[in-house]
Amino acid sequence: MAEQRFGRSRRDFMRVAVTAASTASLPWLGAGEAHAQGSPGAPASGGVTSTAASSTSGIAPARGTRLILLGTKGGPTPSALRAAPANVLLVDGQPYVIDCGNGVALQLTKAGVKLPMVRDIFLTHHHSDHNADLLNLVFLAWASGLQTPVHLYGPPRIGRMVDDFVDMNEIDLDVRRREEGRPAFRPLINVHEFDGPRVVLENDQVRVSAALVDHYTIKPAFAYRFETRDRTIVFSGDTRYYEPLATFAKGADVLVHEVMYLPALEKLISTADNAPTLRDHLLRSHTTTEQVGKIATAAGVKTLVLSHFVPGGDPSITDDMWVADVRKDFAGQIVVGKDLMVL
Ligand SMILES: [Zn+2]
Ligand SMILES: [Zn+2]
Repeated sequence: MAEQRFGRSRRDFMRVAVTAASTASLPWLGAGEAHAQGSPGAPASGGVTSTAASSTSGIAPARGTRLILLGTKGGPTPSALRAAPANVLLVDGQPYVIDCGNGVALQLTKAGVKLPMVRDIFLTHHHSDHNADLLNLVFLAWASGLQTPVHLYGPPRIGRMVDDFVDMNEIDLDVRRREEGRPAFRPLINVHEFDGPRVVLENDQVRVSAALVDHYTIKPAFAYRFETRDRTIVFSGDTRYYEPLATFAKGADVLVHEVMYLPALEKLISTADNAPTLRDHLLRSHTTTEQVGKIATAAGVKTLVLSHFVPGGDPSITDDMWVADVRKDFAGQIVVGKDLMVL
């Protein structure tokens, strides 16, 4: 892809990559601290990136596309290490939210995204680590001053979640509308449910398409492809090793893919009576480190961002351990995702 097509954001992105390489041996630094460790202008390191970091403020282009990983831990149980699954793309400053795990509003706020700016929210599937805060996010945006319509995209039952949320929070919604002068909550929400592949949204900033992935018994489960003026970014959602995803992600600049570190899980489940069943369940639901590399290579993506770590709360699994088996098959840049990382 031509350099000029990326413009400033391409150069910024490369700067993040260089920063990443130079901080590879450091423990994770908070957003803002890590950025200072970079050495912009240094030659890229051959795409060997085991960790990356940048600030949310240091590379904020008013125009162009930025990806912020809001939460990178798979599964619903809270962890001090990583927040629940959520991402946001900023296209010319406009947020597009992908998945709403517990704490998504707080993570957006930490990332510097103004909640009333939220307009389009995409769900990959109905596991609670991805949908738990869908309506909480809309509500907190509303309580923060949202006046404009919000669009929720994803599998069937989102409309039912909206209705149940409104019912459950009737007292609060009514009181705030009357006493704080807020607009009626429910009419602001537009639901767009679908159960198969399609173009989900197309406007002057982005074209968003959805494809089915295979997340065992959770159906439908979607991957999303975002094509903007300067970049193409694909989110795997939750899926087992699924070759058609490589076709869907073909030629993308960035593939954000879920990942599972099987050795750690096998250690965990080895003592369980139902270990073979559990192992089978995991392999039918998620993608191992080794399989992620194969998908990224088949897709021909430039950068693979590992996220939705399973297990995501185990500090003994180092970045190098996450990368080792991915690297066997993928020669491009690998980023071990961290919460609030900007790419
Ligand atoms: Zn998940
Ligand atoms: Zn899931």
